[in-house]
Amino acid sequence: MSSIEKFESELFAANIIDPDGVHSVFTSGLHGQKINFKQIPDGSELFDLWVTTTATYIDENYPEAEVPELFVASVDSGTNRLVGPVAEELGCRASAHLTKKVRDGEIVLVPDAVDAIRVYSPDLVLFLDDAGTTGLTVSTGVIHARAVGARRTAVLYAIQRSGTLPSLNDINADYSAMIKREMPAYTAVECAQAYFCAAGWDLRKRQEGA
Ligand SMILES: [Zn+2]
Repeated sequence: MSSIEKFESELFAANIIDPDGVHSVFTSGLHGQKINFKQIPDGSELFDLWVTTTATYIDENYPEAEVPELFVASVDSGTNRLVGPVAEELGCRASAHLTKKVRDGEIVLVPDAVDAIRVYSPDLVLFLDDAGTTGLTVSTGVIHARAVGARRTAVLYAIQRSGTLPSLNDINADYSAMIKREMPAYTAVECAQAYFCAAGWDLRKRQEGA
């Protein structure tokens, strides 16, 4: 079993996905069963597997980015805790950079990250995100990185749960995912007419800061 297959298998065995009978509102407004990456405890075996699988994927897929020219950037609270350990795992060719939320669905690089892009002009600013449904939030980070002079940007997901991510397609962003698994998500209207809401499933609203 490859490292990615092991990560996928443990992720889906970890009881962090909305169980049948429960679904959530995503940042995009879509309704679906959420994979709650925030419930993966720091320092757990699954968290460490997320880190090492990500670093291995980056080494294999972005081998050309040289010392110290690879920036791994977070998507706010979703992956702020991930980028440091991933950069450490990648060694001295990578450094970790944070983003913060401006409002729901919009992030910016923190001032230190903006300064670092201007000073070091890295080969690649790679945003690490957890689950991709539309790509809305991370697309605003990519736009910000480009605006402050990033020469190349890309997004790497732990899991891409839609066949295509419209917000990233709209800005011609480069994105990939370690795991691709389609999991249905619907607009609130569709959901109420024919899917989870129509079936009476509990709906978890978005929490402040989530
Ligand atoms: Zn619903």
